[in-house]
Amino acid sequence: MQCPMCKKDVQESFEVASNNREPFTAVHALQGLFAWGGYGVPRTVLCENEEFVHFSFDFNGEEHLVKMVKYDPKAIAIKHQYWNENPEPCEHDGCTEMGIPRYLHSIDTEPMGWYCNEHTKEGGFCWMCSTFAAGTEAFDFSSTGLCGSCQEELEDEMSEDFDIDRDWF
Ligand SMILES: [Zn+2]
Ligand SMILES: [Zn+2]
Ligand SMILES: [Zn+2]
Repeated sequence: MQCPMCKKDVQESFEVASNNREPFTAVHALQGLFAWGGYGVPRTVLCENEEFVHFSFDFNGEEHLVKMVKYDPKAIAIKHQYWNENPEPCEHDGCTEMGIPRYLHSIDTEPMGWYCNEHTKEGGFCWMCSTFAAGTEAFDFSSTGLCGSCQEELEDEMSEDFDIDRDWF
């Protein structure tokens, strides 16, 4: 990928959804973290326009090019619906099921992989929210194949049900 401003080749390029399209902001925390680096990490902006930011990390000189795209939840939902309606086969060897689109970040419009619910853990995706969760302790050690936030959600729901039951008696 080449920086559109200085024409220099950049090793890493990213696309980040941002509400205000200000550098170093992101709608999705993880997406922002990958592209911009951790909060408060010293960086130097090399080039900048309305759409792109080309910067380097002060501590190792690594350069990132980030394209800031408008955050458009409706467009994302339409794209996700399209993929749901036009599925590709599960990527697991020998599986004959159709896959479900799985995303690196929940707001991505392009699937990162296609897996049925049975095989989605091998791809590193939570079967419930379809987002990439490999490398997180909650997911890697889970017996349910759920990411941390889906596990929490499920536990919350179960304890709510429990409270309702108890109120009955
Ligand atoms: Zn540049
Ligand atoms: Zn499968
Ligand atoms: Zn999940």
